[in-house]
Amino acid sequence: MKLDGQTIFALSSGAGRAGIAVVRLSGSGVVGALEKLTRKAISPPRQIAARLLHNPADGELIDRGLVVRFEAPHSVTGEDVGECHIHGGHAVVAALVAALTELGLRPAEPGEFTRRAFENGKLDLTEAEGIADLIAAETEIQRRQAVRQMEGSLGRLYETWRARLVRAAALLEVVIDFPDEEVPVNTPDDVIEILETIERDIGQHLLDDHKGERVRDGLRVAVIGAPNVGKSSLVNALARRDAAIVSDVSGTTRDVIEVHLDLAGLPVTVADTAGLRQAGGAVEAEGIRRARKAAAAADIRVFMYDATATDQQIPWGVEPNSGDVSVLNKIDLVREGGGRIRDYIPEPVIPISVKTGAGVRGLLERLTQIATQLVGSGWEGNLTRARHRIALVECQAALHRCLESRPNDIALWAEDVRLGAGALGRITGKIDVESILDAVFSEFCIGK
Ligand code: GDP
Repeated sequence: MKLDGQTIFALSSGAGRAGIAVVRLSGSGVVGALEKLTRKAISPPRQIAARLLHNPADGELIDRGLVVRFEAPHSVTGEDVGECHIHGGHAVVAALVAALTELGLRPAEPGEFTRRAFENGKLDLTEAEGIADLIAAETEIQRRQAVRQMEGSLGRLYETWRARLVRAAALLEVVIDFPDEEVPVNTPDDVIEILETIERDIGQHLLDDHKGERVRDGLRVAVIGAPNVGKSSLVNALARRDAAIVSDVSGTTRDVIEVHLDLAGLPVTVADTAGLRQAGGAVEAEGIRRARKAAAAADIRVFMYDATATDQQIPWGVEPNSGDVSVLNKIDLVREGGGRIRDYIPEPVIPISVKTGAGVRGLLERLTQIATQLVGSGWEGNLTRARHRIALVECQAALHRCLESRPNDIALWAEDVRLGAGALGRITGKIDVESILDAVFSEFCIGK
């Protein structure tokens, strides 16, 4: 991403026809550009004004709209910011974009507004990631987690730890630099206490069962079972429950149908290993491979059995266990109480009929219950990215090395404590590493 200090603009509302479109500007040229567009002296900051907008090149009237500006540094990017609220048609937006280009402004790159906010100290990297997640959030729990991170919960936690490590490093430096001076005699004890506490706190923070990452990515549910037990029918039935659906059934490959559900605010993808029905030969071998893969990747496994089957239905070499959900399907075909629950099916068994819909609600409730246990409520302040985890593990390892060795070589300690603090600094962006910044901001779309 270029950091050229140019004044940038972008359509910040969604693309496509709409009642209103918002074009946002940021940079030192905002006031000049707005004055030329509106042919009027700029209004005071934060006062929205109705204005006619003209193309300064040919004087053509573009639209009538609302114009507001924010003055640096009291703006979202920390620079002068302007917003033009115009009618949301393609041609209107295109005409304004043409006029802004004419005025020497440059279209923003993806995430550039947020990047500038970061560069100007308006937010740290975790808060920027929170904004990206909030924009991407499709379910209530994703929204909660994102808004909490955007408000700085993670950043503050990591910064608190980092600040204490920086203090520990400083205490060690004093011992190194002024060995003959009068230093507080309990310096190493103070340092040990800091390191022990932070190592323990990071350890606890990491024991999160990947809840935050699961909220972002969504939980994966695999429906597993022998051929013809009704797996596809169940996935299709779930897909037809309009209330539960976030996006349409997507046949990602010929063999796997996935539906995306919103289970009580939790994003869930249900995968059916359909198309793996033919018995014998190469196709079955491929089926076993894929079913195993789906089972391995799943957070929740639903094993489906046929209430009318007479033979054992352990599917495809994937062993069910007590953590799985057992479903006995086609109970409409057996007489009341006639669906024998076989001893090879782990209890509790949820009897359903996809055909009549009996029991499907109970199954969804059970899935919701398990999913809630797996991801929590979204308010916990869990880390949300592998990027965070890697840095935390690195910090923890550095502190562990210190505490293990308890050496007399204070210089080695100081080095490790600095490494630990640096790892934490990478999470919030206090340590400036260009590659991290590009990775974080590439998650954004244009106009954010
Ligand atoms: P899959 O191979 O496990 O995906 O099974 P399918 O979903 O293709 O279903 C196999 C057959 O069982 C189809 O003919 C379905 O219509 C039928 N079937 C599925 N669920 C039920 C049910 O609850 N009751 C009855 N009677 N038939 C069902």
